[in-house]
Amino acid sequence: MICNKCLLTQEFPGTQFSSDGVCNHCRSFEEKEDNLPYETQFIELIGSIKSKRPYDCMLAFSGGKDSTYTLYLLKHKYKLNVLTYTFDNGFISKQAKENIKHVTEQLDSDNITFSPIFDLLKKMFRSAITNKNLYSKAALMRASAICTTCINFIRYHSLKCAIEKNIPIIVFGWAPGQIDQRSIFIKPHYSFLAKTQESYIKAHKDFLSMCQDRYFLSAESFKEHADNMPYFVNPLLFNNYEMNEVKRVIQSIGWKSPQDIDANSTNCLLNTLGNKIHINHFGYNPYMQEVSELVRDGFISREEGVLRMENNLNEAVISYCEEKLELNSEYT
Ligand SMILES: [Zn+2]
Repeated sequence: MICNKCLLTQEFPGTQFSSDGVCNHCRSFEEKEDNLPYETQFIELIGSIKSKRPYDCMLAFSGGKDSTYTLYLLKHKYKLNVLTYTFDNGFISKQAKENIKHVTEQLDSDNITFSPIFDLLKKMFRSAITNKNLYSKAALMRASAICTTCINFIRYHSLKCAIEKNIPIIVFGWAPGQIDQRSIFIKPHYSFLAKTQESYIKAHKDFLSMCQDRYFLSAESFKEHADNMPYFVNPLLFNNYEMNEVKRVIQSIGWKSPQDIDANSTNCLLNTLGNKIHINHFGYNPYMQEVSELVRDGFISREEGVLRMENNLNEAVISYCEEKLELNSEYT
């Protein structure tokens, strides 16, 4: 059963349908509060930090459509000096790499690309795939276990980089549907970040415990920098995220859509495998909630949502990922 209004199915945790085929999330949907006050806070913050350091902010930059549009906004709308940070998980598509080079050049921004030893990432991805209890069910409602592995590495490693480079803001290109309102503009308390980082490292302790200081802040560093934890800001939540406009803008600076990736990613080949495993295990696509929210909020049409949920898994890409991670056919 699939909701008549959004795209949730009964497999999605906590979903019930009324007799007219509409899900409880759609029935209780209310227009979200206006996000513009967050932009006012962001602009005030910019006023207090601008041009006092080599970089005003660091942007987690995958080279995908959303982070590209975010970089455009940071440069053209907010006039910031941005250091882009790219995490190379070994599966960035060739076109996405070309986009990263081209877009950062076009938008006059430095880029650091961080590539941890692939053998370490391989072990972490394999563990995320084979150990079904590595992350909580709640953590996996919006992202596959593979994505969750990367997202957290990026979050805590970019934090260490920003602290070391004295950068006061970390910007993420999360789009509507991907995070909740409380995360649009925050200055997290150091102890919260230290605690969530610790549970991530603990989940991967077999591989990370020997080398965690290379990648992440130590408990002492968190305390030492307690007063200068950066702000975390998600500008796409308080800007126009109408898809045709996003595409128009990024294409105008020469961004090209990679052709070897599924409909819900514009940079990472591994995303497809993560989706396949998630669907096999939980019975729903990890993008279901996000795309349903986009439909409810009117950012995309239901027809486009349906297209995104059609899981045209590219078998060649999946085989490539399986081989690179040395997975045998029994892993799912
Ligand atoms: Zn619904």
